[in-house]
Amino acid sequence: MENKSVFEMILSGDLKSDIIYEDNQIFAIHDINPIAKIHILIIPKKKIATINDLSIDDIDLIGSMFLCAKDLAKKFGIDQSGYRLLFNTNDDAMQTVFHIHLHLIGGEKLKNI
Ligand code: AMP
Repeated sequence: MENKSVFEMILSGDLKSDIIYEDNQIFAIHDINPIAKIHILIIPKKKIATINDLSIDDIDLIGSMFLCAKDLAKKFGIDQSGYRLLFNTNDDAMQTVFHIHLHLIGGEKLKNI
């Protein structure tokens, strides 16, 4: 059987992390190595390795992840000051966890990309 991703281990309770949002499709946690004052990961419970592996069946899931990001931005008080949402895909983008996750980054002035 394929190894569990770090996010599946968090979801199953094998690895400790505070889950700050959860519904039937997705959950969210604080990034363990934040690059800004607010750095949250929005993660589908279904393991999809990279954005390249998305299918038409995942449209609703991806939409839910963005709606969750918007709600968390408001909850953490950065909806008006601003934030960045991103998915890293494969080596050049330095993806390290092969279970897709949406980064929500803000709480301070971010460097230009
Ligand atoms: P990426 O480079 O886009 O694959 O991002 C993976 C992210 O997962 C990185 O920002 C890591 O800091 C984060 N991460 C890895 N392990 C954990 C963990 N146990 N809890 C929270 N965040 C984690």
